[in-house]
Amino acid sequence: MKKFSFLSAVAVLFLISCSKDKILVTTTDPVGPAVIVPPVAPPTAATDSTLVMGNPSNATTNVADFSNYLLKEGYYSLSYNRDRGIANWVSWHVVSTDLGSVPRQDNFRSNPSLPVDWYHVDNLSYSSSGFDRGHMCPSSDRTSSISANSSTFLMTNMVPQAPRNNQITWAGLEDYCRTLVQAGNELYIIAGAYGEGGTTTAGGLATTIDNGRITVPANLWKVIVVLSDGSNDLNRVNNTTRVISVVMPNTDAINTDWKTYRTSVDFIEQETGYDVLSRVSTAVQNVVEARIDNL
Ligand code: MN
Ligand code: MN
Repeated sequence: MKKFSFLSAVAVLFLISCSKDKILVTTTDPVGPAVIVPPVAPPTAATDSTLVMGNPSNATTNVADFSNYLLKEGYYSLSYNRDRGIANWVSWHVVSTDLGSVPRQDNFRSNPSLPVDWYHVDNLSYSSSGFDRGHMCPSSDRTSSISANSSTFLMTNMVPQAPRNNQITWAGLEDYCRTLVQAGNELYIIAGAYGEGGTTTAGGLATTIDNGRITVPANLWKVIVVLSDGSNDLNRVNNTTRVISVVMPNTDAINTDWKTYRTSVDFIEQETGYDVLSRVSTAVQNVVEARIDNL
């Protein structure tokens, strides 16, 4: 009887320690020290900083606005185009606390926030197309919590992207952006896709995939506003603020160096018809949008 109680007590303690580990601790290295993931509150409407620099196409939450439908995911916001099956643009903010240790969740899935009667692109919609499910807001920019990272795997954050573009050139710029954050900057990033027709080594030219339901964009663009860490961000954008803009062709024949594809915000605005950085004063937009980054 006494022995039984002792074993029960040991079993209970063992179970408590296991469940405690599951709740509080994740390990990145099975033999290294445990890494404690701090709780990070998901953004609320009051703390949403994703559209501080503006809403480039004046997207709205009216379902009749099916080619420019605003989706606020908290961790990023986007304008969705129902008939293209992809976003027009995605906008987000990156600060050092967004960069944590949560592993890539890889839970690609359809977005339940879309109107129910719209076609829902899902995790298999790109299968055998030759194109990658290319993140606009990168998984690695959202590693502070499981919910933050999972949010980037909604298919509304993906475009059909040529693998060499996605994995090498576009990824190179994504990595460079995180080095800027680690060096004491915060970034406002807007990325999008326009035009029709991309080319992969595996499948050649395609204008659509998924039986015509998803348009393959011809070009991907990105605008990055670089500010040193601080507050009152919109008002700190001035004529000397570094703004990096690129337009990259959606092809496997792409150059590996993202710097090859630098251009002006003005060029992106001409190509897309959007007003990027619309909340920045016109005088400052006139200066920073005409400049091509060369650092
Ligand atoms: Mn990617
Ligand atoms: Mn503008």
